[in-house]
Amino acid sequence: MAGIIDNWDFKCPVCGKHEFKEYDSYNECPVCGWMDSAYQVRHPDETGFNPISLNEARESYKATGDAYAFYSVQDNSSDDNSSEK
Ligand SMILES: [Zn+2]
Repeated sequence: MAGIIDNWDFKCPVCGKHEFKEYDSYNECPVCGWMDSAYQVRHPDETGFNPISLNEARESYKATGDAYAFYSVQDNSSDDNSSEK
């Protein structure tokens, strides 16, 4: 029986350096922090299991080496509301 995903590897779609043990595992990549989600690989502009889209994670990884770096930066306003005007 020829497998449909014979040729499939489970490499991280963001960094390509980590190989997940199974398809759609929802495990976190130890290299870039991306969470494996097959849905988001098929829909790279949508958020899902990860609160950022795959394309955003790729951009962030390219610039910083961390899929979530841009996301964390955007989130830093929450502890600084005293200076809000
Ligand atoms: Zn990765």
